[in-house]
Amino acid sequence: MKTLVSAGEIVVEVMARHRGQSLLAAGPLTGPYPSGAPAIFLAQAAALGQPCGMIGAVGDDAFGALNLDRLRGLGVDVSAVACLPGRATGSAFVSYRADGSRQFVFNIRHSAAAELVQGPEARALLGRADHLHVMGSSLFSDAAVAMAMAGIAAVKGRGGTVSFDPNIRPEMMTEPMRVALADVLAATDLFLPSGDEIFLFAPPGMTDADAAAADLLARGIRAVVLKCGIQGAVYFDATQRIAQPAFAVAEVDPTGAGDCFGGAFVALWLRGAAPAQALQVAAACGALAVTRQGPMEGICTLPHAEAFLATQHGDGAAAWLAAFPALRQAGARPGIASVCSAHPRVIAAALRHGRDRDGPVLIEATCNQVNHQGGYTGQTPAMFRDGVLALARQAGFPADRLILGGDHLGPNPWRHLPAAQAMAEAARMMADYAQAGFAKLHLDTSMACADDPLPLPLDLIATRAAELAQVAEANANPARLPVYVIGSEVPVPGGAAEPLHALAVTTPASAAATLAAHRRAFAARGLDAAFRRVIGIVVQPGVEFGSTDVAVYAPDAARALVQTPLPGVVFEAHSTDYQPTDALRALVSDGFAILKVGPWLTFALRETLYGLAAIAADMLPDPPEPLPQVMERLMLADPAHWAAYYPGDAVDQRLQRHASYSDRIRYYWPQPEAEGAVSALLAALGPRPIPRPLISRHLGLLDGFAAMHPACTADMLLEAGIARVLGIYAAATAP
Ligand code: ATP
Ligand code: MG
Repeated sequence: MKTLVSAGEIVVEVMARHRGQSLLAAGPLTGPYPSGAPAIFLAQAAALGQPCGMIGAVGDDAFGALNLDRLRGLGVDVSAVACLPGRATGSAFVSYRADGSRQFVFNIRHSAAAELVQGPEARALLGRADHLHVMGSSLFSDAAVAMAMAGIAAVKGRGGTVSFDPNIRPEMMTEPMRVALADVLAATDLFLPSGDEIFLFAPPGMTDADAAAADLLARGIRAVVLKCGIQGAVYFDATQRIAQPAFAVAEVDPTGAGDCFGGAFVALWLRGAAPAQALQVAAACGALAVTRQGPMEGICTLPHAEAFLATQHGDGAAAWLAAFPALRQAGARPGIASVCSAHPRVIAAALRHGRDRDGPVLIEATCNQVNHQGGYTGQTPAMFRDGVLALARQAGFPADRLILGGDHLGPNPWRHLPAAQAMAEAARMMADYAQAGFAKLHLDTSMACADDPLPLPLDLIATRAAELAQVAEANANPARLPVYVIGSEVPVPGGAAEPLHALAVTTPASAAATLAAHRRAFAARGLDAAFRRVIGIVVQPGVEFGSTDVAVYAPDAARALVQTPLPGVVFEAHSTDYQPTDALRALVSDGFAILKVGPWLTFALRETLYGLAAIAADMLPDPPEPLPQVMERLMLADPAHWAAYYPGDAVDQRLQRHASYSDRIRYYWPQPEAEGAVSALLAALGPRPIPRPLISRHLGLLDGFAAMHPACTADMLLEAGIARVLGIYAAATAP
């Protein structure tokens, strides 16, 4: 990727809290915020994944440290930012007048920010630079002009490019500045003026922006992007003019919008994105910038910008997933947890957890759980959807950020029947999922039916997947067509039945063959458009869990698979439950962008409930019947859901019934007697705070949570138990 460099002022900004507040009198201020036009610009480009370096200077003070920490944190190389002892970091005090204009008190020219030195670090950085961005407003000293010209010479000498944002209103222009800016303009490839700045170099009397742009292009500038605030932006080059409206957002603080817009546009332009796409991402970054107080506080990552764009386009949250393969290809690290659970408490906890975070929440139902016949939960896809939507309303989670997925959709529940019959049922199920608006459909036709050859040939698997995709396409809302996940190397739904032995990681050849077979099968049915919405492939990365053990992700074992180029898709990993955070993070880094989690969430629910039962026994004079005892009775009365999964003698099996990673106990929670026992336990503990020492004794994992929430109730702890696992996934999938 190309390295982007800029030189100029690094300052802190302190802002009056209220519009119309005067800087002539005492009043509430907010800040310090890291700022400085070139710093904001680079920080936004770096947040989008562009390698960036800054040349500048700060004082050896808290304001300098604040800026350096922020720039470093967002990925900007600050090796050429000098930290000057005895100088103060630059600062700006800002107040918005009632009419929106600004009053400033600057300390820049006499601060560290004015000390731009062409030292060895700056020269080294310029020696690596592929692109230089010049902020006109930074050219306030001879040293700054000299630095810009040296940067231009270095970058151009290596065949690099230059972008230029004058960032100076015409009435602020001095004659020496005009000369310097004209020199910069002569070397500019991409010009990014704002409003009237497009006329800075225009023939006198010119008032038409399109004519001014044409004049600039005629002078050899490759492209012009005119920023017009709330009116949006317009792109011009020799062959096209593209208008990009601004997105409607609630503006909190307009400072920094233009710099974030510019940093984003240049980052995408440098990686060869189409101008229309670069404009969209830039407009998203500009819009998000104004939603936060402080010029750098709204800086966003590429997945965040894509998620914002997806919601703006009304494509639904699934468009967020659809962007994953392109994001991955662009070097980003997209990731999302897929919550595979039908337990209402788990779903509600996932929605509340997602409510306060960016991006969508993905909740999936499997073919055995939910289907046109009701599945083992008794729910059709429409019923499941309505149940989740009701929980979303209660949780205050916006429905447009919800993605519903269908998992293992294929003949699996009917595989004891001949293939023709089993596939007919699978097609009915698929029609229901698609009609109910499930946006992510996992086509899993890898299971052999009663009269099928063994092993099932890949072409037959792919043909059946295409048949089901055809049903989905015909039944989905044409304005919101689903995305698909394919893949035949699927572990048994619900976890492995036997103790783990060496797990076979999917081979690169097998993954490539699966993708190719599906492409052919889709093409044979005229489903090329649907195939473009195949965004993921399920592979085995080498993770699994049994009743009492977990195979942890080993990146070395998956290296060959991970390095195989499979354009257009990301990996989906199943059975990622119980992995350490670092292993989950490594999975995401290696391209396993969709991480399924199910049993771990109900395992955490069970663990917390059992802890609460023990707390009740310690705490209450007349506790309800111990929950483990109730569950033992239910599981012994109906061993169908556990007997085949829990090996060993009676003692081993008893242990696993109450503490197994396979968590077969989850099938018993919906039984009325279990629900009654849970309600009785929570009612008995009621709204009273649980003493910390009891939490420490019986729910040690939640001790940290309890420390932060002084009056912890049973309900809060139950939610926190599930949220702890969700938090691990949020951390692992965070950009
Ligand atoms: P600055 O004041 O930071 O120098 P600028 O004048 O260089 O800003 P603007 O045109 O204000 O740049 O903003 C750049 C882009 O950011 C706009 O084209 C628009 O897409 C987006 N933007 C700016 N303000 C808003 C807003 N209030 N709402 C939505 N988008 C906005
Ligand atoms: Mg500007």
